[in-house]
Amino acid sequence: MATPTLMQNYGERTLTLVRGEGNYVWDNQGRRYLDAISGIAVCGLGHCHPKVTLALHEQARTLLHVSNLYNIPAQEQLADKLVHLSGMDNVFFSNSGAEANEAAIKLARRHGNARNLKTPQIIVMEGAFHGRTLATLTATGNEKIQEGFGPLPEGFLRVPFDDVPAIEKLAAERNDIVAILVEPVQGEGGVRIPSGNYLNQLRGLCDQNSWLLMLDEVQTGNGRSGKMFAYQHTSILPDVVTTAKGLGNGVPIGACLAHGTAAQLFTAGTHGSTFGGNPLACSAALAVVETLESEWLIERAEILGERLLQHLRQQLSDCNQVKEVRGLGLMVGIELLQPCAKLVDMARQRGVLINITSGNVVRLLPPLTLTDSECHQLANDVSSLIHQFALQAV
Ligand SMILES: *Cc1c(COP(=O)(O)O)cnc(C)c1O
Repeated sequence: MATPTLMQNYGERTLTLVRGEGNYVWDNQGRRYLDAISGIAVCGLGHCHPKVTLALHEQARTLLHVSNLYNIPAQEQLADKLVHLSGMDNVFFSNSGAEANEAAIKLARRHGNARNLKTPQIIVMEGAFHGRTLATLTATGNEKIQEGFGPLPEGFLRVPFDDVPAIEKLAAERNDIVAILVEPVQGEGGVRIPSGNYLNQLRGLCDQNSWLLMLDEVQTGNGRSGKMFAYQHTSILPDVVTTAKGLGNGVPIGACLAHGTAAQLFTAGTHGSTFGGNPLACSAALAVVETLESEWLIERAEILGERLLQHLRQQLSDCNQVKEVRGLGLMVGIELLQPCAKLVDMARQRGVLINITSGNVVRLLPPLTLTDSECHQLANDVSSLIHQFALQAV
């Protein structure tokens, strides 16, 4: 039983992890697990990657924090690096994904303000997840997450995911829209991958209407999708992109990147954060991004993701409980025909950590450092568990 001195918002937790190394974690009984969830897409380099540990160690003995009253060299280096890798113009650093999205929402509001709109609207999607702050939970397309937290902020219009005509209809009806906020792949929403030209079409609509295209890459970013950012699977550039999870490999950091006019909307005093982009977090993130490059982990994620999908599809092709196996890079979802929370425990007993999202989707987010044999083993283990689950289910 967890201590009653913690608020009970996370529900009951039955596993205590005390150590991690590479693609494995150990519990307080000394049992080892292959981590196929990576702290929810955070530890892309695996646990305690030596380069991140070294960067943290060196920064911890040099300077932890000074606030944004001062120049921070590691922050500037990280910004240069991210701008170079993304094709965007500049960055605001936050401490989490939700806060990166808050910055994006504030940029959209400023964009509306510049057009003299009193109640600027942001188009958001059904099934979306953008965080748990008041604005981001309002942007989130899941009523359970919003329940009991009213009054919710205004300024969001919801349409189905991957439905361009629904947005065209809104565009024809209203003149107060300022932005589209969308995940290139819905993560919490069940690893939902839109049709191939969706982002291109959204880019076109935003160009026609002077809206900002704002991509939430909190989960898909930092190599997870097989590109540094998932929009790089297309030829478009967004106006705003947010990221967080994998950026610090476990050190809390988020980023809101902007391009073109969106990059000019925040002027002195319009936004800020005490911790955002502090020396410790930026040194860690710099080590993460450098390691993604020097160890070719983004390319690796693309190859491994293909392989994982292929294995799973092969081994699950005859399983009557499986509706679809889908994925992009090392973000894989196996949609079953019924709720399958039980699979988490079954996998744990076999020494594998997985996650269930949207009730019936097995989500795999393994580290980008997964070896060939671990990838193979993971596909085997997960398929055999799903077969076992299917037998019990009928
Ligand atoms: C996790 C997530 C967030 C929220 O990030 P936090 O760091 O938990 O605030 C926002 N958007 C997406 C797509 C996410 O996956």
